[in-house]
Amino acid sequence: MKADQIAHGTVRGHAAHLELRIPICDACRTALNEYRRSMPGIVAYKRRYGRATSRALSRLKVAHREEFARFFHEELAKVMTEADEDGLLPEYMKGTP
Ligand SMILES: [Zn+2]
Repeated sequence: MKADQIAHGTVRGHAAHLELRIPICDACRTALNEYRRSMPGIVAYKRRYGRATSRALSRLKVAHREEFARFFHEELAKVMTEADEDGLLPEYMKGTP
């Protein structure tokens, strides 16, 4: 999908903004907020689901420290490469892991 194909003012549009890393417009932000407000039970469930995921990841991190550190450094290298490709990496950070 390209920026000019975003269905603004929809939940799908909000997701497209995130996917394309384009700042979220007011119409899409409003659409997501209205969607969330229309389903309070779902929002509460997702918040708890997120909390459980976060806690499980913390426990996993402690149980497998070395593997986590290796994964983290691999993923950090990827996001730093993406930031560099997007022109977001300051000169002084180039070449640092
Ligand atoms: Zn939009």
